[in-house]
Amino acid sequence: MRLDIITIFPEYFDVLDISLLGKARRAGLLDVHVHDLREWTHDRHRTVDDTPYGGGPGMVMKPEPWGEALDTLVPPQDADRPDPREPGSAHEPRPSGAAPSGKDSMAGDGATADAPPPDTAAAAASGSADSPGSPAGTSPPSQEAEASPSARVPRLIIPTPSGRPFTQADAVRYAAEPWLMFACGRYEGIDSRVAEEARTRMPVDEVSLGDFVLAGGEVAVLVMVEAIGRLLPGVLGNADSIADDSFAPGAMESLLEGPVYTKPPVWRGRAVPDVLLSGHHGAIARWRRDEALRRTARTRPELLKRLSPEKLDDRDRAV
Ligand code: SAM
Repeated sequence: MRLDIITIFPEYFDVLDISLLGKARRAGLLDVHVHDLREWTHDRHRTVDDTPYGGGPGMVMKPEPWGEALDTLVPPQDADRPDPREPGSAHEPRPSGAAPSGKDSMAGDGATADAPPPDTAAAAASGSADSPGSPAGTSPPSQEAEASPSARVPRLIIPTPSGRPFTQADAVRYAAEPWLMFACGRYEGIDSRVAEEARTRMPVDEVSLGDFVLAGGEVAVLVMVEAIGRLLPGVLGNADSIADDSFAPGAMESLLEGPVYTKPPVWRGRAVPDVLLSGHHGAIARWRRDEALRRTARTRPELLKRLSPEKLDDRDRAV
């Protein structure tokens, strides 16, 4: 899977070099490219924000650097071409790890030989919302690009508190896609026309990490990348553990995992439940399910309401 992350703080993503995801990257399972949005600014101060129209406090991220970044990473002519995976297409898919990259902070200063410099890329880009002849706000009517797993265009994910909640089901869905791109907002967020224009040529999801406000999208993107990355085939040592996780599609959908234990059997006077030492697999599975139902009822009762009745057996209803 290829990931492109656009941010004004590329160093936030240095942590993707460690632990599970670092290993996945070194194994070639995850191809991460981090881009500094300021590379697509043209003034001395590398400005990415401006005052909000309509007044009020705070600043808003300007659309121009975002437009140029997206044009460079997903050239408009590519978005117009037929899907290279469609039968009969003459186009070959882009090899994983090759263009369209601008900068990859994981590889030093990151300039790649095959990426046009931001300013020439912007000049070459046709049909962007801010190019001459197509001023912002007059781009073609917005059409939601189809959500197809295609290497031709990425799915653009924009974290924002006003998006729809990110769930495990989204992580599973995103993990099946070949190319994801993340846009990290700062200040009061990104000028709304950026998502609107991008939507005309790639699928765009605006997603929220929860009902709270972070200072920027970087931590939200790290959370999503970890949730998605651990689901990729080959990343976890034991892939079966994914099915037992809280919220896992299937038996655990809308359920929280119950308590877990390891050795020793007694610690500070507290014993591991007998059933877990019994070796009786059926009884253990039943106990785990009961505990998951009890814990969910206790801490997240609203989740239980989403459980479809056919997913409950008689014993479930008794818990
Ligand atoms: N003014 C915005 C609002 O009230 O909705 C908040 C902007 S926040 C200070 C700056 C950035 O942090 C957002 O553009 C987004 O990228 C990120 N962010 C903050 N909270 C988030 C959340 N709950 N989920 C996802 N992203 C979030």
